[in-house]
Amino acid sequence: MPELPDIVVLAESMDKALRNRLIEDVTVNQPKCLNVSVRRFANQVRGRRFERSSPRGKWVLSDLDTKWTLAFNLGMGGEIRLHTKNEEPETKRERVVLRLDDGQQVWIHHWWFGHVHLVPKGHLGSHPQIGRLGQEPLADGFTADILHHMLEGRRGWIKKYLLDQSFIAGIGNVYIQDVLWYARLHPKRSAGSLTRPEVEGLHQAIQRVLNEGISYGGGPGEQDIWGNKGRYQEHFMVGYRTGKACPECGTPVEELRVGSTTSYICPKCQI
Ligand SMILES: [Zn+2]
Repeated sequence: MPELPDIVVLAESMDKALRNRLIEDVTVNQPKCLNVSVRRFANQVRGRRFERSSPRGKWVLSDLDTKWTLAFNLGMGGEIRLHTKNEEPETKRERVVLRLDDGQQVWIHHWWFGHVHLVPKGHLGSHPQIGRLGQEPLADGFTADILHHMLEGRRGWIKKYLLDQSFIAGIGNVYIQDVLWYARLHPKRSAGSLTRPEVEGLHQAIQRVLNEGISYGGGPGEQDIWGNKGRYQEHFMVGYRTGKACPECGTPVEELRVGSTTSYICPKCQI
C-alpha cells in the first residue's frame, strides 16, 4: 500500500505529466470505485483539463479546471500509469481509463479498496475519508511541540498512533520501521511515556525517513506515472531485514508482532 513518500513521488510525476492536459474521454470499468454515478462522473470529467496534482496522506488530489478535484486512492497494489495511444487496456484490470487530447491514456488500477472520487475543490474536509486525515508530517506546521501535545497522556503503543491516519497522515508499515529505529524507540513503548528529547528525536526521524523515501523515488512495489520504481528498500536500516546486522550496533534485527502488524527492530538500540 503506498505511503506518503510514494504518494509524493506519484503526485509530482502526475503534476508534470498531466497539468493542462485535456481529458477527451473516460471509461469506467469498476463503477464501485467512484463516489458518484458513472454518468455523472463522465459528464464532469470529460472535456476538462487537469490542473495541479498534489499529495494528501495516502491520496493524490488532481484539480480539474472546474469546481471539482479528482481524488485518487490506490488501496492495495494500485498504480496510475501513462500509456501510449495504441495500447489496449485490459478492461478487468484497469478500473478507470482517461484518454487525453493527444491519445495518450491514464490507466488507473487497484486490486481492492481503491477509489476515484469527485470532491468539490476547496471542500476536501467534507469528504468522509480525506476530511478525517490528521497532521501532514512534512508540513511546516507539524512541529515537535505539536507531536508532544498529541502524544501526551496516551497510553497505547507509539506504533499504533503513528499508523493511525487520523493522527498523522501517510505513515504505514514500510517507513515506520526505520522511523522507530532512528528514534531509538521500541514499537510497544507507551506513547505518553516518551520524554521531550525522545519526542524531538521521533519528530526528526519521521521527517528524515519520509524525505529519504521521496529522494529514493518511493518504496517497494511503488512507481511513478511513468513506471519508474521506488528504491527505498535498498536503503532500509532495519525494515524487512530480519537476522541482518543493525547498522548502528551489529545486533541481529528481530521481527515481532505488534497488534496486527509486523515490526522489525534492533533489540539493543530500540527500548
Ligand atoms: Zn542496534
